[in-house]
Amino acid sequence: MPKKILIVEDNEDSRELVVKVLKNKGYLTVEAVDGEDAIEKAMAERPDLILMDISIPKIDGYEVTKRLKSQEEFRDIPIVALTAHAMKGDREKIIVAGFEGYISKPINVRELPDQVKAYLRGKWESVLGGEDK
Ligand code: MN
Repeated sequence: MPKKILIVEDNEDSRELVVKVLKNKGYLTVEAVDGEDAIEKAMAERPDLILMDISIPKIDGYEVTKRLKSQEEFRDIPIVALTAHAMKGDREKIIVAGFEGYISKPINVRELPDQVKAYLRGKWESVLGGEDK
């Protein structure tokens, strides 16, 4: 069974790029364009991994992730922030919101498949730095 990945991204070009790369690798993809859409699609589709842009309309990525992670069924589903600003303060917010990690924007399409594979395997670099979680 191919793994299903929910891509939450309001920028159409960025979203289509990620979708294209992941489809080429054989993943099933589901797309959401804002925070409300993200929550609906996450609940309806039960993805194996969620890639979440932080700056999205209606409900931001931090809040969407907090809400999903407050539900039992999303505790073990990795949610990964897609963010251009992973500065120190942002890393703390990413951790507090319940994200498993982040992928820096602009997305490196050559690295993305390995990053996704690592998160799906539950083996990723802690956002706190260094050790595997
Ligand atoms: Mn955005």
